Amino acid sequence: MGENNLKIHLQRNGFDDFNTELFHLCKLFFDEVEMIYEAAAQSDVSITLELIYNDREATVNASAKIIKFEGHQTWSREKTREVKELSEEGWRRAAKRTVLSALLQALQDATGIEQPWGTLTGVRPTKLAHNLLMKYRREQCEQMLRDEYLIADEKVSLLLDIAERQLKVIPDLFQLDREISIYIGIPFCPTKCAYCTFPAYDIRGNNGSVEAFLQGLHYEIREVGRWMKDAGMRITTIYWGGGTPTSIEAEQMDAIFQTMHDAFPGMNEVRELTVEAGRPDTITKDKLQVMKKWNVDRISINPQSFTQRTLDAIGRHHTVEETVSKFIFSREMGLDNINMDLIIGLPNEGIEQFKHTLEEVEKLLPESITVHTLSFKRASKMTKNRDSYEVAERDEIREMMSMATDWTDRLQYKPYYMYRQKNILGNLENVGYSLEGRESLYNILMMEERQTIIGLGCGAVSKIVFPKQPKESVTDQQKVERFPNPKEPSAYNQSYKEYTEKKLKLLNEAYLSVIEK
Ligand code: SF4
Repeated sequence: MGENNLKIHLQRNGFDDFNTELFHLCKLFFDEVEMIYEAAAQSDVSITLELIYNDREATVNASAKIIKFEGHQTWSREKTREVKELSEEGWRRAAKRTVLSALLQALQDATGIEQPWGTLTGVRPTKLAHNLLMKYRREQCEQMLRDEYLIADEKVSLLLDIAERQLKVIPDLFQLDREISIYIGIPFCPTKCAYCTFPAYDIRGNNGSVEAFLQGLHYEIREVGRWMKDAGMRITTIYWGGGTPTSIEAEQMDAIFQTMHDAFPGMNEVRELTVEAGRPDTITKDKLQVMKKWNVDRISINPQSFTQRTLDAIGRHHTVEETVSKFIFSREMGLDNINMDLIIGLPNEGIEQFKHTLEEVEKLLPESITVHTLSFKRASKMTKNRDSYEVAERDEIREMMSMATDWTDRLQYKPYYMYRQKNILGNLENVGYSLEGRESLYNILMMEERQTIIGLGCGAVSKIVFPKQPKESVTDQQKVERFPNPKEPSAYNQSYKEYTEKKLKLLNEAYLSVIEK
């Protein structure tokens, strides 16, 4: 069964729930899936799922049967699970896991594709690992991840290793909801990369002036700084992203740092300050001097690939040599914590090109490396022209991922954060690796959603994590509310005051109980 665009007729007996989860599971196997629920409608494949609840034995039995019409082929799987928690929610959870397990196995049989993440389809699987580690010993967690979610051994280890490492690096990860982190979004880049879905605009373009944008950013910093002082709030980490923050001039960067220091309380106690200097073509001596002056701890210089043809194809407009020379220059200027982002599955790239990239990175040995797997997101130019790009097959992507794992292991880089994306090639993951003690705290906090991140600037998304109330336990899920700023500079320039006011209102609501004390 190798079709990419499939109409699936889904028939459910004994339940009418779990639409989203079933859809996402099917999506792991096919590029495009349309779920059809009416019996008469035309489809390529028919899936029948049946759930039987056994109250007396406290078990749930699920069966999945897949029929492909043309070939008259059938695949069936069955699964029975004990219900460990006899509440309504406990039964529901067991039913969901059982039916997803049966369907996953039937789909694996039918397609010949093994899913290393089992039935997990969410973006933040380490959250699950943390929740389990809070209640059970590591061996029990391993068994649960394998048995209940059918996750492959290597991914089970990855998840638990990452969660344990995060707690080592931020021992108070679960107590940090009385502090916040800051994200500064600077929406400009020298050119727009083909795969990009970030709020990034060509700095030479006409989408609102840089000066007008900076005026808005300074305003937001001052207003949020005032709120923080009133609320007695401290900052854990600060991250400049975008876009490429180093696209603006050194003096403009200096002025933002000055405003941050004037407005934010406790700047000297911030645990980590990162600036994305992603595009090597934006790095200059003046900008590095500004970053040194304001004690920036960590920067990112992102090669993505060390094959010039690829950089040209994806519109990065810088050379491979420039990546190397700017890296060495940054080191000479005293920046001693540098991250590099790499992407697996760039157009026309296979094992040979990725091997070359790893060999080149090995000559530089940055303190951390983030390995992304290319994701076809709806908004990118590349997705719109998807047919004109040649991208590696699922098996090749997996092999490159495993090359990255072996390579990082050999060089003592350890995984410390990860996330998955929808539409990620080969259903794999993005993993951040670092040398011991060089983990990015911001990345951990942002991914685990244990702390509010206030986003300032264009396209910055604030994530407000409502602080726990005294009666809530450490394992209770906290309410998280997103608040995005406008993505386009011209829209931001017109409405930043209004957005700042709404953001402060939301922060006041979230921290009402804390502020009152
Ligand atoms: S450098 Fe990054 S933010 Fe800028 S266009 Fe390229 S991918 Fe997007």
